[in-house]
Amino acid sequence: MSDLRHLPSVDRLLGQAGALMELHGRQSVTAALRATLAEIRSTRPDPLPDEAAILAMTAAALADTTRSGLRPILNLTGIVLHTNLGRALLPEVAIEAASAAMRAPAALEFDLETGGRGQRDDHLRGLLCELTGAEDATAVNNNAAAVLIALNTLGAGRAGLVSRGELIEIGGAFRMPDIMAQAGLRLCEVGTTNRTHPRDYREAIAEDTALILKVHPSNYRIEGFSAEVDGATLAGIAHEAGLPLVNDLGSGSLVDLSRYGLRPEPTVAEAVAEGADLVTFSGDKLLGGPQAGFIVGRRDLIQRINKNPLKRVLRLDKIRLAAAEAVLRLYRDPDRLAERLPTLRLLARPKGDIAAQATRLAPQVAALLGCAVDVITCGSQTGSGSFPTETLPSAGLALSPAPEALAARLRALPVPVIGRIHDGALVLDLRCLDSDAALLGALAG
Ligand SMILES: *Cc1c(COP(=O)(O)O)cnc(C)c1O
Repeated sequence: MSDLRHLPSVDRLLGQAGALMELHGRQSVTAALRATLAEIRSTRPDPLPDEAAILAMTAAALADTTRSGLRPILNLTGIVLHTNLGRALLPEVAIEAASAAMRAPAALEFDLETGGRGQRDDHLRGLLCELTGAEDATAVNNNAAAVLIALNTLGAGRAGLVSRGELIEIGGAFRMPDIMAQAGLRLCEVGTTNRTHPRDYREAIAEDTALILKVHPSNYRIEGFSAEVDGATLAGIAHEAGLPLVNDLGSGSLVDLSRYGLRPEPTVAEAVAEGADLVTFSGDKLLGGPQAGFIVGRRDLIQRINKNPLKRVLRLDKIRLAAAEAVLRLYRDPDRLAERLPTLRLLARPKGDIAAQATRLAPQVAALLGCAVDVITCGSQTGSGSFPTETLPSAGLALSPAPEALAARLRALPVPVIGRIHDGALVLDLRCLDSDAALLGALAG
């Protein structure tokens, strides 16, 4: 049995922990030394660690607790807009704009011309209207918030019509029936799961109907014997009855993605042109910006939303407003968008480019990890529920054997590398790997 009386005191150890205190401060180092000593007392290792070993254990424990859980990682899952990994990466101009807004005061709600009070949404309104053809626009915390405040403003205490085929659940507990209930609307389901017709909506309109809601089924497809009512027809039905049509697009792209070789998603401008009175969409999905929810549409309705007390609860902060403004501005020049907007650049990255990178990296990764590494073709996903049934042809590295153990090892790196396990291998899809050096540097850590 080791003799605990030989353990050094905290004071004695502190005397030799100058470098650690420089890094972490006296208070944290003292607490960490106490914890290390307590651990040694309870486990009684034989022989007892010497002073240098105790300091090293303490340094490791401190390094662990001070490492941010939000530190950068490499997303090699093949899912470009991975919700659990933070969705869109922002373009440099947006990062600069956000930093500037953090560093110095900004005219957030201040009119520089008159010196009077301004509105925080003014910074985005013009751009959103220009890019979508809408009359007016506002912004909130995320698209879930956009749907909530739009429904609450237009329909609290009354009913909203939704097709049974569009009662979506998005990951993270966004379920349309629950959001409607939270917004104070009675959900009136229309049609069936696979087929909804114009007459279903017409027949469901009643005295207490406040609005018709159309929801883009972002993360699933109903195929086969199916029918839905298109936005233009639905706008006609709503307007005949004097009701507003709210179209929740989810991703809602601002440009025709087919010009970048991607499958087109309904654009916000199309939804506006079809006659939707309000359109809601996310800032950090296909749009490629910060987390935000945008609402565009009829001015009178946007003004009512802005007067809803929930607007104050759900508003955007200056950091994200600055970033969103910079991202939206990039959309004014669609010709250069794919170079400038990381989300689009990654989605449009040609397979040949990715495959060449995989071939280059395979031997080096094998040497660093000491495992088998095969170059493979694979399919990336857009993520965030966009294009759920489509994959983008991609390439990567398949690491084996013991993929689970390899995955754990790569997650434990200072810059964690996240892949996915498939077919008995750990697959690193290289679509989102901007530089070879980033992966080699991470693995060398
Ligand atoms: C993603 C999505 C939402 C929620 O948007 P967040 O930005 O994640 O809050 C709502 N509706 C649809 C149709 C979506 O695809």
